[in-house]
Formats: sequence, C-alpha cells, structure tokens
Amino acid sequence: MSNIPHVLILGGGFGGLSAANEIRNNLSSLQIKITVVDKKDWFMVGFAKLWIIKGTRTFENSIGSLNELVKKEINFLKEEVLQIDLQNKNIRTTTKTLPYDFLIIAMGAVLAPEKIPGLSENGMNLYDHDQLTEIHNKLKKIKSGNIAISIMGMPYKCPPAPFEASLLIDSMLREKGVRDSVQIHFYSPSPITLPAAGPEISQQILNLINSENIVFHDSCKIKLVEKNKLIFQNGEANFDLLLAIPPHVAPKVIYDSGLAKEGGFIPITRDCKTPFENVYAVGDVTTLIVNDTMAVPKAGVFAEGEAITVAQNIISKIQSKKESSLFDGKGGCFIESGRDTASLIEVDMFSEPKPSTKLTESTAEHLAEKIQFEKERLSKWL
Ligand SMILES: Cc1cc2nc3c(=O)[nH]c(=O)nc-3n(C[C@H](O)[C@H](O)[C@H](O)COP(=O)(O)OP(=O)(O)OC[C@H]3O[C@@H](n4cnc5c(N)ncnc54)[C@H](O)[C@@H]3O)c2cc1C
Repeated sequence: MSNIPHVLILGGGFGGLSAANEIRNNLSSLQIKITVVDKKDWFMVGFAKLWIIKGTRTFENSIGSLNELVKKEINFLKEEVLQIDLQNKNIRTTTKTLPYDFLIIAMGAVLAPEKIPGLSENGMNLYDHDQLTEIHNKLKKIKSGNIAISIMGMPYKCPPAPFEASLLIDSMLREKGVRDSVQIHFYSPSPITLPAAGPEISQQILNLINSENIVFHDSCKIKLVEKNKLIFQNGEANFDLLLAIPPHVAPKVIYDSGLAKEGGFIPITRDCKTPFENVYAVGDVTTLIVNDTMAVPKAGVFAEGEAITVAQNIISKIQSKKESSLFDGKGGCFIESGRDTASLIEVDMFSEPKPSTKLTESTAEHLAEKIQFEKERLSKWL
C-alpha cells in the first residue's frame, strides 16, 4: 500500500481540469496521486456550442480528449459516479470503489428539460451538445416565421450566453438574407436581461439586442410548452422554432449524498469547503452566496477560479504550509455581437461595498481574446 495522498476529482470540466492541472504543476506524482472521473471522455469550452449552432465549428473540432491527462500523470477514469460515501471517504462508480484523501466535487449542473411539461416534445435545448447540429440544420432551413429563445429557470449557466446566441442567430439569418421575414423573440423570467450584472449593464444588453430587432419579453415564467406555443404564468406566445434554456439542477448523486437539498446546489463559502473534512466543491454544482440578492453566476471562469483556490489549499496542506487562499470572485465573460466583434463583461463579485460589473466596448480585439481563451484552456489542460 502506498501512502501517497490521493486527490479524487469528480468531473472533468472547467473546475476539475483546472484543479487537476494546478495540483500536478506544483506537486509531483511522488507527492500526490490525482484521479479525474468523468462519464464522458471529452471537454469542450461552453461557448463553442454557439459556434456549432452558427455553423462555424463542428463538435469534433471543438473538443479535447480527457485521455490526454495520463501524459501529465493524472489518472483518468471514464465512468459515472453513482455514490459519494462521505463517512467512509470513498466514491463508487459503475465498476469501482475509489478511496480518497481529498475530494473535489466539480460535477457541474445538469439540464432538466423534464421539469417543464411539453418541452422535450415541442422544443430544442440550446445547451445540449447532442442537439446543436440539429438546431444548426433547422436554422439553415428557416425562411420565415418566429424563433423563440426562452430561459426556463434560474440560475442557468453563463447568464449572457442566451443573448449571445440570439445575436449569432440574427447574424446567421442576415447572412442568409432571410432576417427580415424571421422574428426573434427572447423570453426571460427576470425583469431585466442580466440580473447578475445589475440594471445598467442589463439596459446596455437590452439596447444591443434591440438594435438587431430582437424583442425581449421580461418576467415570463414558463408553465408548459405545447405544439408551437409557450404557456407562461402570465400569458402565451406562439413560435415556429423554440430554443430553450431548461432549468438546471445538480447531479442526482449530490442529492443522494445529502450535500445539497433537492433541486438546489452545494452551498459553499469562499474557501469552497463542504462540512466534510477535505471535501471541496467548485463551479456550477455549487451556490456561493455573495449578498442577500446575489450568488456567484454559473460560469467557467468562476469554476476555474474556485478550483485553483482549492488546489492551492490542498498544495499547502501537502507542503505543511498554512492553508489560506480564498476565491477572489473575479472573472469576465465575452459577448459576441454577431458582427465580428465581442465585448467583455468584467465582474468582481466580492468588491466592496457591492459586486462590480463593467461592460467593455465591442471590438475585434475582444473577439480575438475570446478565441484565445478557448485555445489556451484546451492546450494547458489537455
Ligand atoms: C452555450 C454556453 C456558453 C458558455 N459561455 C461561457 C463563457 O463565455 N464563459 C464562461 O466562463 N462560461 C461559459 N459557459 C459556462 C461554462 O461552460 C460552465 O459554467 C462551466 O463548464 C462550469 O464548469 P464546471 O467544472 O462546474 O462543470 P462542467 O464543465 O459542466 O463539468 C462537469 C463535469 O462533470 C461530469 N459529471 C457530471 N455528473 C457526473 C457523474 N455522475 N459521473 C461522472 N461525471 C459526471 C460531466 O460529464 C462534466 O464533464 C457557457 C456555457 C454554455 C452552455
């Protein structure tokens, strides 16, 4: 039996991959054993999904293989996590039981279209990688009618992404010469476009989509979907093509382990600890409350920042140093305009007296930075 401590990382997404790499870049395989478990063996930066919808990318050109991790002496196991046993400090997958000394839960959020009656039968899921090519093909065929983009639950991943999707779809239809005969309607349960970014930036985003004739409908809380019809608590709307952002939940195994209440996410503070010793949680599977009205948004940059915080704290424990890092809450999300430019929403969630957000000008340079953001992550993590 080796007495090298074992870090087990559940999930090979933004959080899992950044934690694994940060630890391995600082500690050798003689100091720590690292295992990443994921039910799939590929990673994709979330926003590449929108490029697949637009048709400038394919799925195959947008993924990195988790099998590359072994080259860095990070074990990878492609299996589903079925049980987390916090008392006995192990997890069970389809075929194995793996013990851990440190556990990092980075399992993301799960899309739950089944929570909205009629959605799966009558609409497409804008965030589901399996539906992207079909969405692209439907958009390619459309010549006239009504496209509805509908946010069906809060919180959801990357709050600006559905707006960016509407702008990219607008540009696709413009390039095809059919934009004048296709209407794009955007439905949100919120009173403003981006509650996490505050009223001023929300107004700027509203102006941006309105300038492309995308109509925003606020406070539309979905009840159910029928054929070609959205039924809200306060009204109805017709559509020819529905692109939905379904409600998000945590993976079932998180509820089974008691780490989160049914339908919610794992509550953490800025040290990303759970109540269990050496068990941490990062990214979309968590809720990190900032103040009475706000939590850290679900975004890759924040999952990455939290994962690095946890990694640094594990590294200092192994090196017998004082554990001290706290997640700084800083990050940025790009919004592509559909006109070969992008702007950047810069966020500082823990600035005093309140979270600060800034929206930059939309420029070709920011679009280049966005492309670089993806390239960098794929090359440094895999
Ligand atoms: C269209 C779109 C655009 C986006 N744009 C941006 C952007 O511009 N900037 C940004 O920062 N973020 C963006 N995001 C959000 C970003 O992708 C997520 O916030 C990020 O992936 C969260 O990282 P995570 O590690 O918490 O979870 P994930 O990256 O989702 O990783 C979780 C992993 O856990 C695995 N898993 C789950 N359950 C199990 C199980 N039971 N067994 C085994 N494995 C399991 C999953 O397969 C998955 O690989 C976007 C998302 C979308 C959908």
